[in-house]
Amino acid sequence: MDTVQNNAVATVHYTGTLPETGEVFDTSEGRDPLVFLVGHRQMITGFEEEMIGAKVGERRTFTLEAERAYGERQEENVTTFPRSDFAAVEAQVPLEVGMTLVADMIDGPRPFTILSVDEQTISADFNHKLAGKSLTFSVEVVELRAAEESEVSHGHVHGKGGVTH
Ligand code: ZN
Repeated sequence: MDTVQNNAVATVHYTGTLPETGEVFDTSEGRDPLVFLVGHRQMITGFEEEMIGAKVGERRTFTLEAERAYGERQEENVTTFPRSDFAAVEAQVPLEVGMTLVADMIDGPRPFTILSVDEQTISADFNHKLAGKSLTFSVEVVELRAAEESEVSHGHVHGKGGVTH
């Protein structure tokens, strides 16, 4: 397997920047590279689409519009909570706009960002922090291999950089 394609296990180094400001929002530099199974929705769609066909050692740089990255911001993902729900948090740390907290929802823990705080309520934004933004990625393919059958059926990588079970 010598190019990025569906059911390949790709190991990559990447840096993500905001094209308007050049701010780095995420990078694997200085860490272990990222390992993922191609074609199983582990990555945002545009990231995989832009890397299909890349060889080991090849670096690609591309900018994704929001709809191919984390999607547009949805106003219905903004919710209001009574401030009293956060009494335990507030006993530890003052609540501030822009702070990220995690809510225990029926479907599991979900992170949100505080949009506003007043005496009675907190406005919580469950949109992904990168929703609505264009993102630039610079990605270098470090290693490629064909996925094992068990990886394809589980939809994730096993072993180094993946799931151990
Ligand atoms: Zn598995």
